[in-house]
Formats: sequence, structure tokens, C-alpha cells
Amino acid sequence: MLSQGPVGHDLTVAFASGSLNNAETHYTTSEKELLAVVWATKYFRPYLYGRRFKTVSDHKPLVWVMNVKDPRSRLLRWRIQLAEYDYEITHRRVSQNTNVDALSRIGSVSKEDDLSDEYDEDRKKKILYEFHDSPVGGHTGVNKTCRAIKSQYSWPNMRREVEEYVEQCRSCQVHKMLTPKHKAPMEITTTAEHTFDKCYLDIVSPLPVTQGNNKYILTFQDDLSKYVVAVPIGHQDAETVARAFVANILLKYGTLCIIQTDQGANFVTKVFRNTCKMLKINKIQSTAFHPESQGSIERSHRVLAEYLRHYVNEDQTNWDEWVPLFTPFELLFGCPSVLPSASKKPPEPQYK
Ligand SMILES: [Zn+2]
Repeated sequence: MLSQGPVGHDLTVAFASGSLNNAETHYTTSEKELLAVVWATKYFRPYLYGRRFKTVSDHKPLVWVMNVKDPRSRLLRWRIQLAEYDYEITHRRVSQNTNVDALSRIGSVSKEDDLSDEYDEDRKKKILYEFHDSPVGGHTGVNKTCRAIKSQYSWPNMRREVEEYVEQCRSCQVHKMLTPKHKAPMEITTTAEHTFDKCYLDIVSPLPVTQGNNKYILTFQDDLSKYVVAVPIGHQDAETVARAFVANILLKYGTLCIIQTDQGANFVTKVFRNTCKMLKINKIQSTAFHPESQGSIERSHRVLAEYLRHYVNEDQTNWDEWVPLFTPFELLFGCPSVLPSASKKPPEPQYK
């Protein structure tokens, strides 16, 4: 048992147990005890190596093991193995070693007691109800229910009974959607080598008209960094879109090599095409057969919507105030933005 704190008031960190092999059963008691110490220090090495720890045993002669001089003995060999640790062996009477004692007798307990008596059908039903149907259970699936029960109870064929129970659960049948597991075939797609080499443009529409007369969001995403820019706009005609694109993206982040859009009317018009031509941007379109090539930007719309949902007012007419705040700052600048609370200097008072 690995525990922390002063002996007698220590708190358990982890339990471990192993069994002796045939040869080891013939060892003397001292040898068995020290073997256990060697085994346990190896097992808990990540916690013990490099720090001082106490080995508490109910076997008193173990304290004297440090004085063994016989070079042929196993005890000396093991002591040398333990030399890389900074430890101290102390003795404690059996009655004080209660936590470990219970553990070391687990094997004999389960053989002596007849578990089937303790877990009659009624008791099992109660446990299953508690771990599956109750609000704490939350109608979890077989694996989770099983794991939760196992943390406190165990009986033979438990898993099979849990499977049957969950399968027959009425509430699960009614409320759970069956989600077939899809595995999309892996496809090699090309990703830009530099930020702002290739970008996506899209429009989220239509949204409730805001007090600032905005109804759409022009979204822009960089293919490599997935950096997103969202711009609230009032109309989605080609001219407005082109203007917003130039003002909010090109003038801030520089010109782009390739820009990909869907087949939305605002992007295929002459105005938008000419704007791109003028700026020497290669404009490409996702085809109707492969709309998934726009998948990443479409996915970012969901994140944006989830974000806005936390902050908009009840009639949802102020979403455009929150859009500019949606910035994946770290993606582009490589470090998290410093928030006011982390700023060391308080603002200076101004006297006028
Ligand atoms: Zn259920």
C-alpha cells in the first residue's frame, strides 16, 4: 500500500498486490518480507525514486536486514538493489497495520464467504437501479454502468447481468438515439504550407436583424492555422461582401494566394471575381459533389454559434456586438492573450 502522511495518520494513495511463485514460497519469512519491499518499490518507483520514504512492515527482523553481512545471501543482493532509494525501514505491530491487513487477507475472505447469499436477486436489482436508472446513474451504457458498480460491488457474471438489464431498460429504448458508427474513409487532402496561403470564405445566414442592422456573418478561415475571422454584415450582396472582405481581412492580414468559397451567389458574381482578380488572388470553388472540402469552416460556425448563445440578449438582436470578441487569438499569435485581470499595473488615475 502506498500512502502519504505521518505513520498512523497516513492516507492511502494506491494499493498493489502480487503473489509468490513456487520457489518464493520456500523463502524464509524475512526473505519474503524483503522481497515484498523490493517488489513494491519497483512497482511504485515513479512515486518513490528521488524522494525519502518509509517502509512500514509488521515483521520486526526486517529492521535488522541492513546489518546482513553474508555476501551470498539474497537479503544482501536485494539490499543492494534498494540502495538507489532513500528509505528507512520501520516496524509496526499487526494490529496497527489495519489497512494493509485487510488487503492481504482478501483472498481468503472471498473463498470463505459465500457471496451468492450476500447478493440475492433483490439486492442486485437495487444496485442495478441505483447505478443505472437513478439520476446519479443517468442511464449510462453497459461499460460505464459496469465500471461504476465494480468500484463498489462485485459478483459472478456481473457484466452479463448488467448487459441484460440495460438492454431491457425501457427509458433507454425510448430516449436513446441509435448512433451507427460511421467511419469515413481516410482521404489525403492537401494543407497549405504557410499561414494565409489558402483560406476559406463563407456566409452564415440569415440571423435576427440586430440594432446595428446586421443580418449575416462573413466568416473567414485560414487553412493552416484554422484562424477564424467573423465580420457582421448587413447585406449579402457581392459588393458588401467584397468590401467587408477587403477591409477586415486583406487590409489587416495581407493578401492571400488562394481563396476557396462555396457556390453561394455572392461569391460567383462578377463583382467578387473581379475583386479577387485585381488583388491577384486565385479564387476557387468547392464543387457541389464535394461540399466537405468546406467542412472545417462549417464546423467553426457551430463553435461560433455556441459561443454567441452564451451572451446574446433574449430577443437575439445584439449578437453582432459579440462577434468581434470571438477571436482564436493564440492560434495566430502563438500565445494566449493577456486578460485585464492578469495585468500587473492598475490604470493610473487621471485628473482633469
Ligand atoms: Zn436506461
